Amino acid sequence: MQQHYFAKDETAMELFGAALLSAMQHQGVVYLVGDLGTGKTTLSRGVIRAAGHQGTVKSPTYTLVEPYELDSGTIYHFDLYRLIDPEELEFLGIRDYFTEDSLCLVEWPDKGEGLLPGADMDVYLDVQGEGRSIRWGANTQKGHQAADILYQ
Ligand code: ADP
Ligand code: MG
Repeated sequence: MQQHYFAKDETAMELFGAALLSAMQHQGVVYLVGDLGTGKTTLSRGVIRAAGHQGTVKSPTYTLVEPYELDSGTIYHFDLYRLIDPEELEFLGIRDYFTEDSLCLVEWPDKGEGLLPGADMDVYLDVQGEGRSIRWGANTQKGHQAADILYQ
């Protein structure tokens, strides 16, 4: 099952992030799939700000992961663009991040293939005119629940 939403600008993208946070109930694993510039970090910023973070949200391109300790739990924002070998994730202590009560957002998940835990939901971003198309697909029961909520 895959669904669709059109985000006409950056604000709409952040609003979708807020909806995603609540649909996921602040937990689980979401892969953000799309080329450079399709809005993965903007969407992540929407999620993280909706969870109460007031500072900046930049892609952790060099550190690979940025943790946000928030009232509702911890959000880990990954950007694996520069990951050369998925084994590096072992050194990062990947197992400590993917816990039951955290929310993990992963940009460039394909770079971590083999070692990265599977996603509850895959979110696909594409440039469409001046805006971005957002599609999503669920892989787990939790993902299906979230996908249904997002569809409403
Ligand atoms: P990515 O992380 O996928 O490389 P970014 O989130 O950094 O992409 O966004 C790239 C550019 O696209 C930014 O200038 C951002 O403001 C813009 N952008 C993000 N979402 C939208 C949207 N829905 N419509 C138009 N521009 C957007
Ligand atoms: Mg990015």
